[in-house]
Amino acid sequence: MKRIAFARIAQETNALSPVPTTLHDFEGSHYLEGDALLQATTEGPEVAGFFKRAELAGFIAAARARKADVEPVPLLSAWASSGGPLSKDCFEELEARLVEKLRRAGHLDGMYLCLHGAMGAQGISDPETRLVRAVRSVIGGAPLVVSHDLHGNVTQARVDAVDALVAYQTNPHRDHAKVGRKAGSIVIGTVMGEVKPTIAWRSLPMILGGGKTIDFLQPMRAVFRRMHQAEKREEALAASTFMVHPWNDSPSLGWSTLVVTNNDEAAANRIAEELAEMCWERRHEQPPKFPGASEAIASARAAKIRRKLGCVTMSDASDVVTAGAPGDSTHLLRALLEEGAGLRSYTAVRDPLAIKTLWPREVGDIVTLTIGGTLDPASSPPLPVRGAVISKHERHGFGRTVVLAVEHVRIVITEGPSMVMRPSFYTEVGLDPWHADIVMVKNFFPFLMFFLPYNRKTIFVRTRGTTDFDAAFQLPFDGPMHPRDPVDDWRSRDRARRGVA
Ligand SMILES: [Zn+2]
Repeated sequence: MKRIAFARIAQETNALSPVPTTLHDFEGSHYLEGDALLQATTEGPEVAGFFKRAELAGFIAAARARKADVEPVPLLSAWASSGGPLSKDCFEELEARLVEKLRRAGHLDGMYLCLHGAMGAQGISDPETRLVRAVRSVIGGAPLVVSHDLHGNVTQARVDAVDALVAYQTNPHRDHAKVGRKAGSIVIGTVMGEVKPTIAWRSLPMILGGGKTIDFLQPMRAVFRRMHQAEKREEALAASTFMVHPWNDSPSLGWSTLVVTNNDEAAANRIAEELAEMCWERRHEQPPKFPGASEAIASARAAKIRRKLGCVTMSDASDVVTAGAPGDSTHLLRALLEEGAGLRSYTAVRDPLAIKTLWPREVGDIVTLTIGGTLDPASSPPLPVRGAVISKHERHGFGRTVVLAVEHVRIVITEGPSMVMRPSFYTEVGLDPWHADIVMVKNFFPFLMFFLPYNRKTIFVRTRGTTDFDAAFQLPFDGPMHPRDPVDDWRSRDRARRGVA
């Protein structure tokens, strides 16, 4: 019986957010250890409120398929929503807990570690490589397989520290469990001596490209198809393309491709190179340009029939909480109040200070206060409003929540991250999207699936904030970066980043 440990420490960091991620953010979102983790990954839900099955359940499935051979050893699983960099204390506490659990786990033959790949921490460069090395310091040369979100960033140090690295092959992401199963098969196969993983990777000096970057749409569809093909034909155990989180502040940030083969270095290099060329060819297809708030509201107003049949969904693209923005922007909210008369609008803003003021008030009270613009005052100013308290709630993940009615707008004010991507964000507080003209979300992709029944028109709105694509251009890079700077050739930076002469 081989004993293989599994753990997760995952958060996607937006380096531009001034709101640090703390241990409370992990423990208030998803934190499990030992037997509770084993139960959650065996019976579900793995991440309450989000995933019945995710990567760790996938790993368990791979272990179950080898029932007599493998004993999965649960360590810990910590996940927090996208946000600012982890505080140093938070990172070091999670690292210490992981190491402590590994030490107490007894003899281990291998390990699967689920990381996001775009985590940042205050005062610590490349924190995820540090986690991988911390694991190494305990398990020594035992096989270690890591999985990442496809928005992760790869570094040579990370590649050096792992036996294999695998990533999602869907965007929007919907293959979490599949990736865990793949990582599980590789680590189990390696422990059993059946496979010998060999990694090749390529790094591109590029943070944006590939159009909408959706896996089933062009221009990226062909790249994803090539990855599937490589795995299907068994040239590769895993083929990945990392399209990076552009607001991550790793100096060597950039798209990368990474291929794991069974002891075939030449094939690994050939496929990684081919995928890199395919991505580079798509570099000029930039993400779409979004209209401003006034234009967006006018176009929602014009969509009369669609509003009657359902709602217009407006993504507050400059304040996307699921990409790490603080969620306290007032730009779109202000525009809806000033220019959206007659359009019943559901909106969201995170403001722990306003919650402090509002929580003691009774339902029905008329209140005057400022909301938003407190967590990231540099992006948007606080907004003065006068309205009625229509309900109060205590919610897992969102924390204390107060709903205000201000003229034609309903404002859901949350103490915790205003991660608005599912209709339940509104229905749980008594706001039915069938009765709205406009529903605000703070998300780039998954809301398109979740809002399908209600949504008749989608508008991404650009105001000003930490998830504007060009906001990433102010981060420090190790050289010219596409599309901010002209870059003719990717190979010299690739070689430098990989330490190849
Ligand atoms: Zn992602």
